[in-house]
Amino acid sequence: MITSKTQLVGLFGHPVSHSQSPMMHNTAFSETGLGFAYAAFDVEPENLEDAVAGIRALGLKGINVTIPHKVAIMPMLDEIDPLAKRIGAVNTVVSRDGRLIGYNTDGMGYVRSLVEETGIVLEKQVVTMVGAGGAARAVAFTLAEQGVKEIRIINRSRERAAVLAEHVGTIVPTKIVEQGEGEAAIADSSLLINTTSIGMLPNVQETPVPAEWLHSGLTVSDLIYNPLETRLLKEARAIGATVHSGIGMFVNQGALAFELWTGERAPTGVMREVVLQQLKKTT
Ligand code: NAP
Repeated sequence: MITSKTQLVGLFGHPVSHSQSPMMHNTAFSETGLGFAYAAFDVEPENLEDAVAGIRALGLKGINVTIPHKVAIMPMLDEIDPLAKRIGAVNTVVSRDGRLIGYNTDGMGYVRSLVEETGIVLEKQVVTMVGAGGAARAVAFTLAEQGVKEIRIINRSRERAAVLAEHVGTIVPTKIVEQGEGEAAIADSSLLINTTSIGMLPNVQETPVPAEWLHSGLTVSDLIYNPLETRLLKEARAIGATVHSGIGMFVNQGALAFELWTGERAPTGVMREVVLQQLKKTT
C-alpha cells in the first residue's frame, strides 16, 4: 500500500509501456515490505533534463534509465560510478544525500546470472561475443574486469567492434574476429554470447551463428529473453552445450538496482517468477 512514507523509484524511458520493470520491482517491494513503490515515466528526450530535476524536487530515491536516455543522462548527474563511466552508459540512478549517482548494473547483472546459473569459472573463459552495441559494452567491460582470459568480437559493423576492442583491450586481451574467421574463433572458445537482437521476437527463425559452428564444450549465452529460448539456444542445447538465457540478466540488473536503492538483498526468486509468468502470457 502506498502511504505518505512510501519511497518512490521508477523508470525513465521512451517508450516505457512494454516494460516488465514496474511489475518486477513492485512484486519485490511488496514481498520485502520495505515501503518502496516503482512507477514508469514516459520521458521524451527533450524533457529529460526537467525529469532529472524532478528526481531532486520530488525526492525520488532513484530511477532506472532505459532507451533512449542511458547516455544522455550522464552529464545531468553529480557523479558516475567508474564501471558505468567505462561502459559509457547509466541504467540506474541513486539519490544519496541530495547527490545523484549513476551506475550501470547491466554488466554485473549479466555476470551474476551467468555464474549462478551455469557455474562457470570466469578466469578460465575464452569468450566470443557477437555484437558491439550498448549491451555488448556493458557485458564486455564487466567480463574483462572480472578476469576472463580473452575476448573476441564478431560484429556486422567492423568500426563499432574496433572501438569496443580498443577500449576493452586495455583490461584484457581482445581482438576483432574478421569476416570468415567466425567458425575458427568459436572452435576454441569456451563461452559464446549473443548480444545482438538477432533471434528476438518476432524474428525467432533468425540466429547469429550457424548451428555447425557450435560445439558441446561451449556455454552459449543469449541476452535475448523474448523468446525465453532463442533458436541459438535451442540449437546449442541440441548438441549438448550449456545454455543461458537473457532473463537472468534482466532480473539481476533489476536486483542490483533494488539493492542500491534499498541497501537490502533483492528477492530474485520472486522477481524471476513474475517476469517468467508475464513473458509466458505475451509470447
Ligand atoms: P544496440 O546498441 O542497438 O546494438 C545492437 C547490436 O546488434 C549491434 O552490434 C548491431 O550491429 C547488432 N545487430 C542488430 N541487428 C543486426 C543484424 N540484423 N545483423 C547483424 N547485426 C545486428 O542494442 P543493445 O541495447 O545492445 O541490445 C542488444 C540486444 O540485447 C537486444 O536484443 C536487447 O533486447 C538485449 N538486451 C537484453 C538485456 C537483458 O536484460 N537481458 C539488457 C539489454 C539488452 P551493428 O553495430 O553493425 O549495428
